[in-house]
Amino acid sequence: MSKAKIEIDNMITVGDLAEKLMIPVTKLIGELMKNGIMVTVNERIDFETAQIITEELKLPDIELTRRQINDDQVKVTKQTREISEHAKVRPPVIAVMGHVDHGKTSLLDAIRGAGVAKGEAGGITQHISAYQIEHNNRKITFLDTPGHEAFAALREHGAHLTDLAIIVIAADDGIKPQTLEAIRFAKKAGVKMIFALNKMDKPDANPDKVKQQLSEKQMIPEEWGGDTIIKPVSAKTKEGISELLDMALLVSDIEELKADIDIPAEGLIIESHMERGRGPVAIALVEAGIIKAGDAIVVGATYGKVRNLETTLGESISEAGPSTPVVLTGFKALPEFGEKFLVVENEKVAKRISETNSQSSSNDSTKVSVSTSSQLLRMINRNIKVSEYNVIIKADVQGSLTSVIDSLKTLANEEVSVTVVSSGVGNITENDLRLASASNAVVYGFNVELPSGLNQIVSRDKIKVRKYKIIYELIDDVKDELSLLLSPEIIETDMGRLVVKAVFKTTKNDVIAGGEVTKGKLVTPALARIYRDKVELASAEVIGLKRGPTETKEVLEGEMCGIHLQTIDKLDIQEGDRIEVFTRQEVDRVL
Ligand code: GDP
Repeated sequence: MSKAKIEIDNMITVGDLAEKLMIPVTKLIGELMKNGIMVTVNERIDFETAQIITEELKLPDIELTRRQINDDQVKVTKQTREISEHAKVRPPVIAVMGHVDHGKTSLLDAIRGAGVAKGEAGGITQHISAYQIEHNNRKITFLDTPGHEAFAALREHGAHLTDLAIIVIAADDGIKPQTLEAIRFAKKAGVKMIFALNKMDKPDANPDKVKQQLSEKQMIPEEWGGDTIIKPVSAKTKEGISELLDMALLVSDIEELKADIDIPAEGLIIESHMERGRGPVAIALVEAGIIKAGDAIVVGATYGKVRNLETTLGESISEAGPSTPVVLTGFKALPEFGEKFLVVENEKVAKRISETNSQSSSNDSTKVSVSTSSQLLRMINRNIKVSEYNVIIKADVQGSLTSVIDSLKTLANEEVSVTVVSSGVGNITENDLRLASASNAVVYGFNVELPSGLNQIVSRDKIKVRKYKIIYELIDDVKDELSLLLSPEIIETDMGRLVVKAVFKTTKNDVIAGGEVTKGKLVTPALARIYRDKVELASAEVIGLKRGPTETKEVLEGEMCGIHLQTIDKLDIQEGDRIEVFTRQEVDRVL
């Protein structure tokens, strides 16, 4: 008999996987724990983990397969959606990325021809936004990616949003860590890259040096016989911008970007917030179909009727087609970043779909009931998550800012990392403080001041501001903070072994057995692993020991005793099984 194939995405929540496998979610969580993965029902695991666990569960006739949207396919065609032969050409969606201060904001600003960056203190862009421009009578959509995290999050939601990446490199500064990161992201997403060599107006601009650096990374410029597209520009003088846009259109023509327009509109929420007087406001990118004011729309567990349809520059419009970023109002609740929107027949249908969506998510959260001791959970928990330490860096000059940021990047390991929420040259500003409070970041000032007028905000909002004059001291402070985020080191000490001679009681979470201590000594409280031959059956907590009828804390080698274990799942222990008892101690670590 052939196995039933169950298709899942690259990532899946534990709850969804249990549902697909038609097993209780507790069983799945238990199995994950046995494999050292501590997750709750709403957390996501990747396909590989899901596959291994499914195999371990030994479910008959089930095979897990990955839904095929891999990078290779994306590279061949950016259209991840099936498109019909009626599909029409759509504008390209371009992400602009690059190292901090290389001029991403200024370039976007120059392209848009508006003075937005100047209005924002320090030119800091706080969140992803998108806008459309016209060049040679053709539309181009630009996405501003503030942190690559946001870009990654969008990708994870299955959205291959961008068709092309413009990577900004300051010609007077060259390739920096974030440039490389941006290149990695673009490559992973399978999108074509155009390098904009910015700040060409500066006397110390050295385009050949940057080309050399790119060549060293196997990206050979076209004029040197390779296929890497490089355009010199100046966001300041606007030189080269028009040529950059020509090139962007040319590259996207090669990609033959198309979308259907005669289907119900759908797309992705790329930003959302509450606004006084307007309620929930979302910025969405239309991917297919044409959205109109008055359309009934559903997004996850919320729905609504599009009340205002606007461009991201605030102009009211009556409809918008593929690749257009739009501002939408009229939702009953705030839609979430990264969620898909869908236009449906009417509001009633939208309401029904949103209710089903919300039920399936709330059901998930009521399904968990894992009963086990916290110590045992801690033991199994291998801390798979990376903890982030958010910082805002201000420095007196560009050179020190770059060295601070570069040094901080090197502090990361697989458990902790520093996220530079924003950075800039100059004194600490009110905007920095606002951003610190919103992103729970610590503000570090290197050779800069906190104007006394801002002290009040600092104490009112309890913002951490730390000023340094010596770079190592600043780095050490961040190191100390990161050390605090490290999970403690676990030291396990083997205590002794019991060979089971009799099983007195087994319930869902308890085992009471008797046997002989054949090695070392048994103690309680302690932890244990249970083995049958060479196979580890389970982990458990030793909660009681009895010598004859009396409770005891310790049993020595050669003695007989009773042992009371607490387990996560029912454990069918048998005569002959071995119980290896050990203790664990947590020791703080430093980076
Ligand atoms: P971002 O951090 O990449 O968004 O960089 P910004 O757009 O904020 O620019 C950083 C600094 O470089 C600002 O002081 C800009 O005025 C300056 N800048 C950006 N583009 C140019 C350019 O083409 N020429 C010159 N001379 N300065 C530029």
